[in-house]
Amino acid sequence: MPLTRKPLAWPAARLAAFLVALVVFALGLGGGVAHALEPVKISREDTALDLTATTEIYSGRGDAFQVSTAPGTDGIVRRIEVRSSTENHQGDWAVFALANVSEEQLERVIVAPHFRLVNSKLFWPDLGSQRILSITPSEGFALDRQPSEEADVFRITLNPGAVITFVAELTTPELPQIYLWQPDAYKDTVNAFTLYRGIVLGIAGLLAVFLTILFVVKGTSMLPATAALAWAVLAYICVDFGFLSKLITVTADDERIWRAGTEVFLAAGLVIFLFTYLNLNRWHQHLGYATLAWILGLGLLFGVAVYDPAIASGIARLSFALTATVGIVLIAYLGFNRYDRAILLVPAWLLILVWLFGAWLAVTGQLANDIVQPALGGGLVLIVLLIGFTVMQHAFSGGAYQLGLFSDLERQALALTGSGDTVWDWDVARDRVVTIPDISHQLGLSLGTMNGPVRNWVPRLHPDDRDRFRATLDVLLEHRRGRLNHEFRVRAEDGHYHWLSIRARPVLGANGEIIRCVGTINDITEQRNSVERLLHNALLDNLTGLPNRQVFLDRLQAILLMGDGSNSIRPTVLAIDIDRYKQVNDMLGIAAGDNVLIALTRRLRRLLRPQDTLARLGGDQFGLILMSERDPAKIADFADAVSKAIMVPLNYGNREINLTASIGLVSWLDQEQSAAGLLDDAELAMFRAKKAGGNRVEPFRPAFRTSGSDRLQLEADLKRAMERKELSLVYQPIVRLSDAEIAGFEALMRWDHPKRGNISPTEFIPIAENSDLINQLGLFAFDKATSDLAEWQTQTGDLPIFISINLSSAQLLNNELYDDMRAILSKSRCDPAQIKMELTESLVMENPEQARLVLEKLREAGLRLALDDFGTGHSSLSYLTRFPFDTIKIDKALVRDPSDKRAVILRAVITMARELDMRVVAEGIESEEDAIQLAQMGCDYGQSFLFGPPVGSESILRLLKERFPLMKRA
Ligand code: C2E
Ligand code: MG
Ligand code: MG
Repeated sequence: MPLTRKPLAWPAARLAAFLVALVVFALGLGGGVAHALEPVKISREDTALDLTATTEIYSGRGDAFQVSTAPGTDGIVRRIEVRSSTENHQGDWAVFALANVSEEQLERVIVAPHFRLVNSKLFWPDLGSQRILSITPSEGFALDRQPSEEADVFRITLNPGAVITFVAELTTPELPQIYLWQPDAYKDTVNAFTLYRGIVLGIAGLLAVFLTILFVVKGTSMLPATAALAWAVLAYICVDFGFLSKLITVTADDERIWRAGTEVFLAAGLVIFLFTYLNLNRWHQHLGYATLAWILGLGLLFGVAVYDPAIASGIARLSFALTATVGIVLIAYLGFNRYDRAILLVPAWLLILVWLFGAWLAVTGQLANDIVQPALGGGLVLIVLLIGFTVMQHAFSGGAYQLGLFSDLERQALALTGSGDTVWDWDVARDRVVTIPDISHQLGLSLGTMNGPVRNWVPRLHPDDRDRFRATLDVLLEHRRGRLNHEFRVRAEDGHYHWLSIRARPVLGANGEIIRCVGTINDITEQRNSVERLLHNALLDNLTGLPNRQVFLDRLQAILLMGDGSNSIRPTVLAIDIDRYKQVNDMLGIAAGDNVLIALTRRLRRLLRPQDTLARLGGDQFGLILMSERDPAKIADFADAVSKAIMVPLNYGNREINLTASIGLVSWLDQEQSAAGLLDDAELAMFRAKKAGGNRVEPFRPAFRTSGSDRLQLEADLKRAMERKELSLVYQPIVRLSDAEIAGFEALMRWDHPKRGNISPTEFIPIAENSDLINQLGLFAFDKATSDLAEWQTQTGDLPIFISINLSSAQLLNNELYDDMRAILSKSRCDPAQIKMELTESLVMENPEQARLVLEKLREAGLRLALDDFGTGHSSLSYLTRFPFDTIKIDKALVRDPSDKRAVILRAVITMARELDMRVVAEGIESEEDAIQLAQMGCDYGQSFLFGPPVGSESILRLLKERFPLMKRA
């Protein structure tokens, strides 16, 4: 019945309300109320009604708030005024109306929660606080406030049919939610959530405590970091679930600070955990600094939280989101780099991201139910739980060893494993051998092959090692003491033998018998091989693989011993030296030099018979013991074949290398002679061949030998010759070919030996060059020649002549040469332009770099430079232009060359020299015709016995006075 009556009543009531409102508005009393309130109808079945949408919020209305009520059953709209209960009220009000459409009295509670995560906003979030100070109904007394920590709860009683308007005095303009609950239903819901919250809180608390205790026990850094995160979560849900207010008394304002604080704590906890767990400072130190700065910033945020919780919470929420994002990027990166910690964290982090997404939906109001908030709280605990499991997996992966809780025995076992040695355990009593790890595997045999009775090993051993192996074990068993230290070979599956070494110690049983023999077994093939290689290197030349000098001599000695007295064995020894090998090294590099030697070795080997021996005696020198030939003619043929084999051009890169060899050979005739003596003779002959220009075979002659011992004597004599003034200079004129006038002199040294008479410089200069004497000798010549020149000039006046002084390239190695020469020059006060230093071509080429340096300095000092003996060496003229020569002296060998090519070569040389702006001196011209021919070719000077032999200084002075009579007067 009432249902039919009411619809009729309402339009009238509405109309009336509208009219009253209009009247009120027209009278100017309305205070901005544009329409009458629509009451929310409540029936008996409504247990929970959301009033949020139908509640009207008025802000800034002062402390006396007037509002029109919803029209009552009578349809009349009344105006009510409510005054604020506190002094400094902001003037925020909320109005809603309720109509009891049932026919019984209804008990309800109005609930406005303090904090709601939903729609709390990301930036400067609403952190909640008390929402409603009091509620005044349009009828009756102000409502009773029910005690509650987390919501403003007011109890109302609605009579049947009553329409009541409620005016709520608000603390802040925000009223995120307001609900009308049936009291019992509300209690049940609260209780239901309380149970859930209790469980979640319990788990969170246990987790935090558990992780903390674990940290105390284990001490790895990721545990405290996880514990910190767990505590942060616990703190957060303590506040969020309203548990905090049960522990301490907190005002609504305090609670905001607490809430912001826990959010900051949570954000910091996540950063610390991520950093510690991923061990980020190990990857990059800068990451450590960045994280530290981040955490410090969050630390400051705690302070901010006290003053402005909203700011702190906003930043903390951002930080949390940022950490989660950075975290997933890092985890992905490190995970792809196979960092197992990162990989294991993936599930937990994915959960964090899901949680973050849910939280974002809730905070921005897109997910707006009552379960979200507690669900997110529970989610956090779940995350910590998952992280806890992950961390424990790592923390305990090292097992007991990481704690250092193992006995010495275990330590020894671990050390053995660490060393990579294999355990060899022979149970003597039962005759069972066990190797751990199975040595069969190393040998390529199927597993277990080498286990079992020790006799099973024997057939696998190298036949030569079998008896020794058995004997060693027998001795050990018999003597019952000592150690087993044995090396032997075992055949692997592929047929190769491996060297194994057993080192073991017997273990004695109660009766004194050996019951076990335990130790290690190792594959020492590598070591054995390298020892053998070393031994090989000591005997064989590394590069060519040929025997070295020592082995060569040994073998020769053995042959000589065998051949003692018999005529059948007559070895011939060849010493083979490659000519100009040094140049190959200098110009093409060591690698080329090495290749040349290897190629030559191969060629020489082909000439050998099995009974012959080829060795590398050192550098570019080979030795050969020829046993296969005895006939001198055949031996000569063989030596020729060797020489020819070396002469075959070699290709290196795209260059052709042409080599020759100097070969000395000696056949064993003198029964007394030793291997070393024989080799010495062969080498002496080889040196002779070399001296004669190389590319020749020189058989040994006993005459060579004496000159060797002479040499030492001569060297000693030469030392004294300086002091005894046995050395002097003679001068040989150098004549201008165009007018036969004297152009200069060459200073040549003479040695008047007290016993042996005159000794040629060709003999004593090389001796001086091989000792330090050359420096003294050279300076003597330079000093004497320059002072003689100065003396002549004082006697005759300045003459247009030069003086040539020989300079050995051995002198070029002396660092003081230049200074000494400068000193002598300034002493004699000669014009340096009148002095020509003569250097031999072959000697300059031996050390081109050093030569160039010194020669350039001499050139800068004003001295002239002449290249002596051109045509005896092998270098090209163009190469020699690298040196600052201004004169070349063509050697007499070239000048006197009997072949028909002589004129061609001479012309070419002279033309080239002139084009290079060099003077040319021809040495040893034999006839006038030659002199004329040379002059026509463009040769400037001649020096030979034809123009005058070398004579003493006084003779020269007389000659000069004769030739240049006018000079003195001028
Ligand atoms: P060299 O510098 O080529 O000197 C020219 C040599 O040829 C001299 O021999 C000279 O006597 C000789 N000679 C000149 N004209 C003729 C000729 O028509 N026919 C023949 N058969 N020989 C002729 P010598 O004096 O025996 O000197 C030999 C070498 O000793 C010189 O060759 C030079 O390299 C070296 N020598 C001489 N004196 C010195 C010196 O003071 N210091 C140095 N480092 N070496 C010197
Ligand atoms: Mg000379
Ligand atoms: Mg010469």
